Amino acid sequence: MYAKVIVDIPALSLDKAFDYKVPENYQLFIQVGMRVLVPFGKRKIQGIVWQLTNETDVEQVKTIAELLDPYPVLTNELLRLGEWLAKETTCFLSSAYGAMIPSAIRAKPKKMIQRQVKKEQLPPVLQAVFANKQSVLWKELPKEAAFLSTLKQEIERGHVVVDYVLKNKIEKKTILCVRLVKTYTDEEIAKSIHPSAKKQRKMLEWLQERSAEDWVPVKDVLAQTNTSMSVVHTLVEKGFLQKEKREIYRDPYEHRNFEVTTALSLTSDQARVLTDIEKAITEEKARTYLLRGVTGSGKTEVYLQAIEHVLQKGKEAIVLVPEISLTPQMVERFKGRFGSLVAVLHSALSQGEKYDEWRKILKKEVKVVVGARSAVFAPFENIGLIVIDEEHESSYKQEDHPRYHARDVAIWRGKYHRAPVLLGSATPSLESYARAMRNVYQLLELPSRVNRLPLPHVDIIDMRQELKKGNRTPFSETLFQKMKERLEKKEQTVLFLNRRGFSTFVMCRTCGYTAECPHCEITLTYHHTGRLLKCHYCGHEEPLITTCPACSSEQIRFFGTGTQKVEAELTKLLPEAKVIRMDVDTTSKKGSHEKLLQAFGKKEADILLGTQMIAKGLDFPDITLVGVLAADTLLHLPDFRAAERTFQLLTQVSGRAGREKRPGEVVIQTYSPDHYSIQHAKSHDYIQFAQREMYQRKETGYPPYYYMTLITVAHEDVMKTMKTAENIAKFLRHQLSSETKVLGPTVSPIARIKDRYRYQCMIKYRNEPSLKQTLGKILQHYQQEIEREHLLISIDNNPQMFM
Ligand code: ADP
Ligand code: ZN
Ligand code: ZN
Repeated sequence: MYAKVIVDIPALSLDKAFDYKVPENYQLFIQVGMRVLVPFGKRKIQGIVWQLTNETDVEQVKTIAELLDPYPVLTNELLRLGEWLAKETTCFLSSAYGAMIPSAIRAKPKKMIQRQVKKEQLPPVLQAVFANKQSVLWKELPKEAAFLSTLKQEIERGHVVVDYVLKNKIEKKTILCVRLVKTYTDEEIAKSIHPSAKKQRKMLEWLQERSAEDWVPVKDVLAQTNTSMSVVHTLVEKGFLQKEKREIYRDPYEHRNFEVTTALSLTSDQARVLTDIEKAITEEKARTYLLRGVTGSGKTEVYLQAIEHVLQKGKEAIVLVPEISLTPQMVERFKGRFGSLVAVLHSALSQGEKYDEWRKILKKEVKVVVGARSAVFAPFENIGLIVIDEEHESSYKQEDHPRYHARDVAIWRGKYHRAPVLLGSATPSLESYARAMRNVYQLLELPSRVNRLPLPHVDIIDMRQELKKGNRTPFSETLFQKMKERLEKKEQTVLFLNRRGFSTFVMCRTCGYTAECPHCEITLTYHHTGRLLKCHYCGHEEPLITTCPACSSEQIRFFGTGTQKVEAELTKLLPEAKVIRMDVDTTSKKGSHEKLLQAFGKKEADILLGTQMIAKGLDFPDITLVGVLAADTLLHLPDFRAAERTFQLLTQVSGRAGREKRPGEVVIQTYSPDHYSIQHAKSHDYIQFAQREMYQRKETGYPPYYYMTLITVAHEDVMKTMKTAENIAKFLRHQLSSETKVLGPTVSPIARIKDRYRYQCMIKYRNEPSLKQTLGKILQHYQQEIEREHLLISIDNNPQMFM
């Protein structure tokens, strides 16, 4: 028996499976998707068992050194998905698999076999190794064939489960628990407990009322029965209770009590949409639905009820939300409906928390995963629905290997499980909307808000006129007036200052010098904590300068952030207003984001001032005014999606106003009041905007009319970089069809990162069946230079960023 193993070295020449002999004793036990340690050159390295065969063409085949997992870490489905991903995104198979296995599991945890049943129910060989223990280390188990095949059977039966224990850093949290040995009759209790021992009786009764089999944390028992530890000791001695240290999960939301919610009775629009989706779930139709619903139209309630339907069918659901840590309200709504059946996965969790959530999925303790992009790889085996909320968000595209879009992965998995995929947005991406127009996706619509309230009235203010009038504050007269009114009426205001596209930087007012990273062609960003200047691309940092290195002037000024400055202005102009500021500075500590939002929800402030992190998901009834301080910052980015992103953001932000009872108002301040993205945001007209933007894209040859692939070449030697980029462009022009356009090479917008110069070429095409193959050939051609000379060639299909 031989195993084809994908070794864990991301280099092209190794991007195929290597054959290894499977040792005799592992032959009945080994499965695809398990990790192994294999000899490779002089070293031993990790790999994934990709296939098992009975023959090999290799003459001197080596033998697997060690089997690292007692159970596969990747399902068959995920193995196939990785193959597709590698081809689709032109990446290494090992990187594709790497993206699916959480870092905590990759970090070489100890593998434990945990007993789930009484020792006596296990076969004799296993009884011996478990002795009195609940779990044993995989490493310490015998590896004879007969033993392993018994073990495999017991895993399949669920009598034992495989568990992962991280070493030192991330220990599992255990807590002292008790449980009743069995359920007792009144006579039994009366016989051993004296009537005067009231506390013992009280504890027993309290425990009897709960399920007798359950372990309960001692601290809860003591608190609920108002007793002491000595009572526990006595009852253990008398044989009523068992006491044990039990593992508990580090639930990142444990300190929160989620208000339990039940299904709302739906509006007729919601009901119509839900019927279609439920039908697809029941009929196991792998269709993709695009749900376009205005802000506040009740999309989330539709997701919740569709998932309820999925759970009734005994299946599982994945919900993707953008940067979930930024929308605690969303987590609350899923936890509120499905309680402990929900696992939450996002980047702000600690390593230990992530690992706990992932293990809940593996142990089949949860049925719903709510998470950011990579949650799309959740190892569920019976998926009934995948939801992608705010499907237009660019964070669904991973900007590093493998450069996948979560939407494409979701659709692939939907097909595999014969489950529908539901994409929701108030402002769908033009790509998705175009597919819906061509019936590739099915369009569903929620055209009005749940409460029938009108969408907020939007005022556009021309800031050039304000300047002419001599107004030098960040607030136009109109906005200032409306803020004052809100203060009097005790309603809330959200002020939005977008700063994507430029960040806080320092500049000399005398000579114009700006601090740049010595390794990257990029301005350093000022960080208030520590008073440092940092490079966001390579991590370089230096202390803040106070005199200009170019001209020695001391006129150093900050540019960019604005939030602090706006806050200062607010205090001056509206001293009676209480303001909460949310930006990178005030939210850098874990949990602070959530706290600030809660405070605002409890009306501890009148004005919430923040960056794009407040644009999404806020659902507070007393917000009746939204002010956008500068709508132009996104509009002038060198990106063909600039207008689309502006329209999306303005619509999102406006959607925060007037969500309940009282209608909302929006004031948008801009230097380009006539731009169509701003005008259509004013009239809340997605369709008009989409038509206009589609026309633009067609004229200029951008998606969704053309596909794009961005190739970036980087190397320390600028001549070599340029030459390589030129050769690649030449090769592409020669290989690809004449309708396909190859643009460049040109210098990348960020000309140098980590001391490497960067050039790029862009491919624009409509139909190019041999493209992936051609790209593969390029990588193959430069393979040696990539491996040995630090040449970097990155290939980004359907890029979201052009830096
Ligand atoms: P969206 O996700 O489309 O912006 P939400 O799902 O957040 O909209 O819904 C907006 C508000 O309306 C929420 O407070 C939600 O609880 C409420 N809501 C949604 N559906 C209903 C319904 N059928 N009946 C009453 N309230 C609803
Ligand atoms: Zn200077
Ligand atoms: Zn740098």
